[in-house]
Amino acid sequence: MLLENKTAIVTGATRGIGRAIAIRFAKEGCNVAFCGRSRGEKMIAVEQELTALGVKAKGYVADVADMEQAQAFVKEVLVDFGKVDILVNNAGITDDSAVKRMTEEQMDRVMHTNLGSVFCMTKAIQPSMWKQGYGSIVNIGSVVGIAGNYNQANYAASKAAIIGFSKSCAKEFAARNIRVNVVAPGFVETEMTAEVPEELMKTWCQRIPMKRPGTPDEVAQACVFLASDMCPYITSVVLPICGGMEDA
Ligand code: NDP
Repeated sequence: MLLENKTAIVTGATRGIGRAIAIRFAKEGCNVAFCGRSRGEKMIAVEQELTALGVKAKGYVADVADMEQAQAFVKEVLVDFGKVDILVNNAGITDDSAVKRMTEEQMDRVMHTNLGSVFCMTKAIQPSMWKQGYGSIVNIGSVVGIAGNYNQANYAASKAAIIGFSKSCAKEFAARNIRVNVVAPGFVETEMTAEVPEELMKTWCQRIPMKRPGTPDEVAQACVFLASDMCPYITSVVLPICGGMEDA
């Protein structure tokens, strides 16, 4: 197993890609602490699913875009699990609109959640990873952060900023054996993309050489690789998981 005896934090793992990452990690022997913004049925179900795979797992309520909550979350995980080897910053939102109709509030909210959460969680985890001289941080970006997209200027900007932030952290943390990489999914079928009208979805799929959306588990497998000791010399990369979309 690729992640045996390791402990990971996965943000936003009550559903979608985060949930798939948590499950893949557990299958690789990793203990998993994860969060969402409320302790609903979904969080409890993920907790049970992970525990059934034979690892230690716990769901926490935390808005990771809030510095105090991010700090408290990491502190609690360190008490409960003893250490954190891997951080996957997966929590993210969309609030799509053409720029001419986009409000300042829409811009701020998406930047605050998507980039702010990566900043808050990185700040919160950095001291313990620094002290242990080991860590792998995987930030979930998007191909849209590389290529841009119609009606997603706020989201694309937040994901592009995650790349710049991650590459800077990779440089700052490398001397302490802490790697920082970005996984950039293309179009993945989750609740986030469920709102996309069917016609638009067909158009998007036509642009994908593999002619289909990706699955959350296909993103999760890339996260296992980057989180694991299979790639001790890989840091500061952006890995697109997008079925070969040309503009990615
Ligand atoms: P979903 O909307 O299905 O899930 C988002 C998860 O993030 C939920 O578990 C939600 O939990 C959590 N979350 C959102 N905001 C916060 C917050 N402030 N604090 C804590 N948890 C939060 O999204 P996906 O699974 O589709 O996407 C996951 C990541 O992948 C995102 O970063 C997204 O941008 C990225 N991505 C997705 C693509 C896709 O096609 N689906 C493509 C490219 C990138 P809760 O509601 O319980 O708080």
